[in-house]
Amino acid sequence: MIFHIVTIFPEFFKGPLQHGVVGKAIENGAVEVRIHNLRDWTSDRHKTVDDRPFGGGEGMVFKAEPLFLAVESILPQRDPRSRVVLTSAQGRLFHQGIAREMAALEQVVILCGRYEGVDERVVENLCDDELSIGDFVLSGGELAAAIIVDSVARLLPGVLGNEASSIYESFSEGLLDCPHWTRPADFRGWKAPEVLLNGNHEQIRQWRASAALQKTRSRRPDLLKAKPDPNALK
Ligand code: SAH
Repeated sequence: MIFHIVTIFPEFFKGPLQHGVVGKAIENGAVEVRIHNLRDWTSDRHKTVDDRPFGGGEGMVFKAEPLFLAVESILPQRDPRSRVVLTSAQGRLFHQGIAREMAALEQVVILCGRYEGVDERVVENLCDDELSIGDFVLSGGELAAAIIVDSVARLLPGVLGNEASSIYESFSEGLLDCPHWTRPADFRGWKAPEVLLNGNHEQIRQWRASAALQKTRSRRPDLLKAKPDPNALK
């Protein structure tokens, strides 16, 4: 699949997407990430992407036109296998279910805002979705875009070494992952659970399922009550 990221800081993405499984996925072509400079769709000498907000007040707002021109040139034809996503603190909360839906798409365009955000006509008339990565305010959409790309890329076929890793991890079955231990079995007197050392796979499976449930109950009881998201991407 292809991710298109539209940003005024194209250099930003040199670091975050280079490492580990996501770096490899990009290297071997399972996912392609194309970075687009929003300023390429301006026509004035200063390559202006922002302007003062109507009604006054602090900060600057991304103008609608460069974002519209960018999306229209990146995706001249919109179809159900492509999505245009705005990163925004006001969007619906991004979660693993949305990552899974996105992994089935062919092209995703992610728009990164800055300053006070973007002209509301971009939200209303250009984007299919507005996504927030949490209830806090970032200084720009670039980190959010990198998070979205990372979480989707690792779900693509062939990206994780062991396909099972993405089936049993947190959120996949509405639960958190079970806790993990590795050698040594006794570290400073803290011991790994005996059951994990005995090689009985059925016992280990049951123990892990119950540990995952217990952890979810204590840390994230909300997950046990969660209903499917009616606004999820189709
Ligand atoms: N005035 C806006 C904040 C703008 S922050 C507000 O109060 O809601 C500038 C940009 O950072 C946004 O346009 C968006 O692209 C990005 N951003 C900020 N917080 C975000 C979050 N929680 N999730 C995703 N993107 C976010």
